[in-house]
Amino acid sequence: MGKNITDYTIEEITQFIKDNLDAVLLVDAETDIYKTVVKRGMFTDFIDETGSYKALIEKLWFHLNDSMDKVTEDYQVFIPTFGKFSGKYSKRLKIEEGGNTHAVQMTIYPVEENYYLIILDELDNSEYMKDFFTNEKVTTIQNTYLFSMYIDLFKDSTSSISITEISDDTMHSSIKYSEWRMMIVNMIWPDDQSMFLERTDPEYLKKNLMPGRTSSFDCLMQNLEGKFIWVKLIFSRAETTNSEEDFRYVFMVQDIHENSVQLMSTLKKYEELASKDALTDVFNHGRIETEIYNSIEIVGRTKRHISMMMFDIDFFKNVNDKHGHAVGDMTLKHFAYMLRQHFEGKNSVIGRWGGEEFVVVCYDADSETAKRYAEEIRSKVAAEDFKVAGNITCSCGITQIIKEDNFNEAFDRMDKALYKAKSDGRNCTRIG
Ligand code: GH3
Ligand code: MG
Ligand code: MG
Repeated sequence: MGKNITDYTIEEITQFIKDNLDAVLLVDAETDIYKTVVKRGMFTDFIDETGSYKALIEKLWFHLNDSMDKVTEDYQVFIPTFGKFSGKYSKRLKIEEGGNTHAVQMTIYPVEENYYLIILDELDNSEYMKDFFTNEKVTTIQNTYLFSMYIDLFKDSTSSISITEISDDTMHSSIKYSEWRMMIVNMIWPDDQSMFLERTDPEYLKKNLMPGRTSSFDCLMQNLEGKFIWVKLIFSRAETTNSEEDFRYVFMVQDIHENSVQLMSTLKKYEELASKDALTDVFNHGRIETEIYNSIEIVGRTKRHISMMMFDIDFFKNVNDKHGHAVGDMTLKHFAYMLRQHFEGKNSVIGRWGGEEFVVVCYDADSETAKRYAEEIRSKVAAEDFKVAGNITCSCGITQIIKEDNFNEAFDRMDKALYKAKSDGRNCTRIG
């Protein structure tokens, strides 16, 4: 006690630093050697007296708590490209060691052309840890919310805009809302622009959002790198008196890209499941019906040829009666499998209409081509050994969709052709 701060010598200060820093290393970048000047605490066993600097960095790298890209970012100035590194650098790192997380301040000073002084200091106080993790949380929110602002529709003004990722040159503080809308619409994916204009329309917002209520919609928006990402545009109306002149809102853009991409691939999977026939794994009635409607629409407006055909297994009731329902099911599966194999690569869509009836829509096929396809599979089926059920045959009605068609007319022609095939003795195909 009693010593003035002016009385301390540089040697005493140096000693104080040596007694307090957790690790000090001198590194020769050219020969890849480090020499430990000071080490204590968590670094006692972690760092040797001397060794390869590269190996030490790799060890630190391995113990880093974050993801790989974070690691790369943290270490790119430390990894062996440091011949070019001439500034000072300091970074707070999270290091996993012995099941504990340590917050470590790492600082690097260039000493000579190829020498570096590295200081590692553990911030062992729990306060630092709290600060550390809070910082991360804030970063997450900043990354998720790309920007936000206040909007006053009555004054036609915007304010307090903070941008983190999406364009900063198109955004100025206090721009008119009407002008802002017309600028932002250019960053929206063309297909989503009309929805953007509708949902950001002042009249729409005034009419549809009561005080205190929030509404949002998702669209594709261009970020700074020019890449379109999925965002959620959120409008929240302030709790106001609901007077005629008070229309204030908070507006936010949230980055939902990763989740959306994942969600859409899940949706695709469910969509597929929902349109499949569980027994035969071809499309179900609803889905093939949609296909017929779409085909009629396509033929109506283009020059494309589309035909469709319906297969009905002959005397299928006998299979069930003789061998039981389970064998009947197996036979249906087998039959559907043959259809799938046959029509693969023929630009066709297959569905189970019901029972032992299957419909195939053939794109870019006139009735003659369709007839050829149908005859081929008909004779294949007739020659196939259906295990327990033995030999079965099928009949087929074909029709080419014409420009004037509606669903019932086209379907009726196909149905009648099938009936004709049945009445002509089965195991044959007819065009209607
Ligand atoms: P046709 O040559 O005139 O077509 O004679 P068919 O016996 O095939 O015709 P029908 O329509 O009288 O009988 C169809 C049979 O298909 C009746 C039903 O028992 C059977 N069936 C329908 N759906 C299924 C199914 O999912 N599984 C099984 N095992 N049988 C089915
Ligand atoms: Mg039938
Ligand atoms: Mg039948």
